[in-house]
Amino acid sequence: MTSTNEQSAVKTPARPRVVVLGAGFAGLNAALALGDMAVDVTVIDRRNHHTFQPLLYQVAVGVLSPADISKPIRTVLRHKKNTEVLMDEVVGIDTAQQYVQLRSNAKIDYDYLVLGTGSTHSYFGNDSWAKLAPGLKTLEDAREMRRRIMLAYELAEREAVETGLHPPLNFVIVGGGPTGVELAGAIRDIASLYMREDYRHIDTTKSRVLLIEGGPHILPSYPADLQKKAVEQLNELGVESLTSKVVTDIQPGYVIVGKAPNSERFESLVTLWAAGVQASPLGKMLGLPVNRRGAVTVDQYLNPPGLRNVFICGDLADVTENGKPIPGVAQPAMQMGTQAAHMIEADMEGRPRKPFHYFDKGDMATIGRNRAVADVKWPFNAHWSGFIAWVTWLTVHIFFLVGFRNRILVMVQWAWTYLTLGHGARLIMGNQRLPGWNALAPGRIPLQQGPLDLASPAHFDPADDLSPQQVATQLPNPDRKASQKASA
Ligand SMILES: Cc1cc2nc3c(=O)[nH]c(=O)nc-3n(C[C@H](O)[C@H](O)[C@H](O)COP(=O)(O)OP(=O)(O)OC[C@H]3O[C@@H](n4cnc5c(N)ncnc54)[C@H](O)[C@@H]3O)c2cc1C
Repeated sequence: MTSTNEQSAVKTPARPRVVVLGAGFAGLNAALALGDMAVDVTVIDRRNHHTFQPLLYQVAVGVLSPADISKPIRTVLRHKKNTEVLMDEVVGIDTAQQYVQLRSNAKIDYDYLVLGTGSTHSYFGNDSWAKLAPGLKTLEDAREMRRRIMLAYELAEREAVETGLHPPLNFVIVGGGPTGVELAGAIRDIASLYMREDYRHIDTTKSRVLLIEGGPHILPSYPADLQKKAVEQLNELGVESLTSKVVTDIQPGYVIVGKAPNSERFESLVTLWAAGVQASPLGKMLGLPVNRRGAVTVDQYLNPPGLRNVFICGDLADVTENGKPIPGVAQPAMQMGTQAAHMIEADMEGRPRKPFHYFDKGDMATIGRNRAVADVKWPFNAHWSGFIAWVTWLTVHIFFLVGFRNRILVMVQWAWTYLTLGHGARLIMGNQRLPGWNALAPGRIPLQQGPLDLASPAHFDPADDLSPQQVATQLPNPDRKASQKASA
């Protein structure tokens, strides 16, 4: 195939200005490579830190702290003297005039643009679900999940002290991909191992974790044998996985699956979203062809049609190789970022560009502590599950964490928590309202309307919770069970 790449040339100035948008896996790797070249680099990200997203779920369940899996972007790039870092949000791109428009009003000109602004959650048009079932993409999201999970136990303990009863400790996770599986396994783990000694009136081991997947398989992108192993390991942990069940509604305190008259209702103290992903809106803003996810279609040089000086990388790129789409995971994002930098270097040196080729080393998903599945493709082909897959997962994730300090800290933290079943970072920060608590524990609104109701940047707006009147109409006979301990 002849791409636009070979047909048109970029006028490369002697010292080009390269603007890198987004310092995720793609952008950061591009910047690290560009930092050693004769170019001027501006890295722009709306956050001041790079986040290692594969470990976000560990922050969400309070095993790791936010700082363990992130690092300030300017610190990562501090030795790259040709590089400046701006914390700002990109709100527009003019590819004809070659500048990017920032939220602060600044315009930044470029000769080359590397675009790696990633992806975000998709609620498939049901955006009102976002407040009731947060997704996991940023450290703020992880903190919000942690707040809700930990708060559920605190409120239940308090309810049990006062009434001897508490709502069922149900956690519903929507979406059975790697993030959903990892969250489900980790919640079962903390409930049955790490927290069981911490409460006096509730039995955390009785927590019910439901993983609901709309498609026929858990871990749909994995080979069939590993899907089966994943379900077995989830069962061993006590996670109930339901497949071919489409969530049709999410309300405070419950989730509806399927359509009436065959719909089912699942009570849920905490609902978490791990189902849909869509590309960063900047892709659509370019006005170029995008796929169903909103990712920009690019050729094998990572260029959209007719824009040889624009490289789209990572989750925002819709790239096909040998007829197959390249998955939206960390490895291809890192490789694309580095390759984009090398293509710019090739232009400067008058060499032909090398097309992008994805070196696929495989995929892994962990299922609680000690269990995982691994589809290894390099250095040999193998399908692993159980402990060996988990050790491999652990090693790979520590290796790829940004920053030596983080690697050591995470290793020590994991070893400590593993051996002692210690407390990790189970902190509740932000307000003390839990969506759905009013519905599940009607008549009682503990901790939610008093001096302890702190102002919070948390996503949930208290006004969205059910009023006691709504509770009365929606849940006439709430299922409130005594905990084992409380009734003992
Ligand atoms: C919970 C979770 C678990 C995952 N687990 C794994 C795993 O185990 N293995 C794996 O390989 N992959 C995993 N992934 C996928 C992987 O993290 C992504 O594929 C990868 O992060 C994509 O890299 P990226 O550079 O394209 O985007 P990102 O890493 O998302 O980076 C995008 C950057 O752009 C910035 N940005 C966005 N919009 C703007 C804007 N308008 N202006 C300025 N800056 C902006 C963001 O702040 C961010 O820093 C996981 C993802 C998630 C969310």
